[in-house]
Formats: sequence, C-alpha cells, structure tokens
Amino acid sequence: VQLVVVLGHSKCGAIQATINSLQQPSADHSPSLQFIVDQIKPSVESLKEAGVDEKNADLLQQAIRTNVQTSMSHLSQDSQVLKELVTNKGLRIVGAEYSLDTGVVEFFDADL
Ligand SMILES: [Zn+2]
Repeated sequence: VQLVVVLGHSKCGAIQATINSLQQPSADHSPSLQFIVDQIKPSVESLKEAGVDEKNADLLQQAIRTNVQTSMSHLSQDSQVLKELVTNKGLRIVGAEYSLDTGVVEFFDADL
C-alpha cells in the first residue's frame, strides 16, 4: 500500500509561534518564520471560531491536530497527482502525532 503520513508533533514551536502571533499581532518574525505562521494560521483561527478559548491550555494540542488535518486535506485536494493516486491507486493519506515526551506515534482514526 502506498502511504502518505502527515506527522504532527507535541510542543510544536511553529504552532506555538502562530498562537502567539494571533494573540499579539504586532510581534515581529523573521520572514521564514512568518511564512510558516501564515501557513498554520487558518488552523488556529478555525479553532478559535469554533469557540476554543485562546487562553485554553488545550489550544496548542488541538491546533497541532487541526493543522495535521488541514495539511491532509490540502494534500488530497490541491495536488492533482495525489488526488489521482488516492482515487485510482488506493493511496492512503493518514494523520498522526508524535509525542516528544513518550516517543509514541498516535495515528488518527480517520484518513482521507
Ligand atoms: Zn513543529
């Protein structure tokens, strides 16, 4: 089976930086960090729109997972090549999260 794994990880500094920049929009980032923050921002914003409080300690954890899911849909919808492989060749795109604390990789239930 051909497989694409989108692997997020706990304590992700890029996602934390995105949360910080939404709380403090004036914060200055290097252009390369700003680029990454801009990619992640929609995932964090969608959680806030869904009512997750930005002071919530779970926001980072939830944003890590949401960002994996967002990346999975981008891969399967925006790439004609991958879309074709999923439809015709049984390619699977799955999401998972790597815990830096335990070393465990937890695969999410739903794939695309
Ligand atoms: Zn990271």
